[in-house]
Amino acid sequence: MPESVLFRGARLVDPASDRDEIADVFVRDGLVARVGPHETPAEALALDCAGLVLAPGLVDLHAHLRQPGREDKETVETGCRAAAAGGYTALAAMANTDPVADNAAVIQEVRALAERAGLCEVHPVGAITRGLAGEELAEFGEMADVGVRVFSDDGRCLPTARQLRMALEYARIFDVVIAEHCEDASLAEGAQMHEGASSATLGLSGAPSQAEEIAVARDLAIVRLTGGRLHLCHLSAAGSVELVRRAKADGLRVTAEVTPHHLTFTDEDLRTYDTNLKVNPPIRSSEDRDALRLGLADGTIDAVATDHAPHAVEEKEAEFDHAPPGTIGLETAMAAVLTELVHPGVLSLTRTIRMMSTVPARILGAAEHGGPVAPGRPANLVCFDPEAEWVVEPSFHSRSRNSAFLGRQLRGRVIHTMLGGELTVSDGKPTR
Ligand SMILES: [Zn+2]
Repeated sequence: MPESVLFRGARLVDPASDRDEIADVFVRDGLVARVGPHETPAEALALDCAGLVLAPGLVDLHAHLRQPGREDKETVETGCRAAAAGGYTALAAMANTDPVADNAAVIQEVRALAERAGLCEVHPVGAITRGLAGEELAEFGEMADVGVRVFSDDGRCLPTARQLRMALEYARIFDVVIAEHCEDASLAEGAQMHEGASSATLGLSGAPSQAEEIAVARDLAIVRLTGGRLHLCHLSAAGSVELVRRAKADGLRVTAEVTPHHLTFTDEDLRTYDTNLKVNPPIRSSEDRDALRLGLADGTIDAVATDHAPHAVEEKEAEFDHAPPGTIGLETAMAAVLTELVHPGVLSLTRTIRMMSTVPARILGAAEHGGPVAPGRPANLVCFDPEAEWVVEPSFHSRSRNSAFLGRQLRGRVIHTMLGGELTVSDGKPTR
């Protein structure tokens, strides 16, 4: 691996330094050394980036890496390779592993596995409640002491307002973020998809949008009460977007994310009974999808997160009502957002990078990520071809292949990813 790399003639899109211009970016000893016209030093690897976009590496707030416990679906290493292939340099690994990441030992184990793989910086998320059981709070202090910044019982919603109140009060004390999977369990029980005309036609039981909206409304009320910092995972319903919009207007400390699959599909796409479109929260109506797009465009929603959720082939090949919910997403997220939002003119490239890198890095406390791309800063970068068209094939770097995007044509492809000055992906291929 050369010690210095020159990205030559790329379109540098860096919201943190307010740049969108053609530039050379020279990287040496793990750091950005120069931004601007640069001769190629003799010892440097020069990458011709004409026509390509160079940006701070992507940051995912929501990935399930499955290790420890379900290494048949994904490991920290394979998940990080998938992340790098998708242009990510940092990600948050959700706590619903086996054992659950509800203590410092599991947090340190996941972090060590990621460091050994060296493909992506992993920030383990700590569980809010012990064993994700929704009862006693986990050891916030112990996990905060080892650097955990985000706490979540993702996969489940905190059962009571009282627990959320305590969690948000702890969040204030330890200066951390509570990330909530908003779902009223009583309304969502037994649901296979969104409740609406499509679920009636398909004969599948549904969960109404209110299952999410009720939980979002409750959570925002508790933010108002405690002043704790809340992040809302994977919004799916128009009503939720409106609740967040009003909460932000009132100055509440809340952020929200949306997934590429909720921005792309509608419940009508489930007519094929494709289990890869069975996700939680469910893919909802076209009105909901349009509200999510608008929420992203007007800044109500802060970030795009993948909710990368690998599952074994045999699980997803089960009958629809037995298949587990989830789609993988790390390798298609950037291309999906480019295809669905940037190329049609809904989102600018600058806003896209802000929502897939700069803002998630700030929420996660990943200080070395999200830009600015400036001299002296760690070289965590992604370089992509915004125009390259490709069809999503079942040949993923993830150990699983349950992608909602299988068979779809996407426009935009990651070419190089650089983590700490080293190429983790070169010419579209992982380097290790
Ligand atoms: Zn979730």
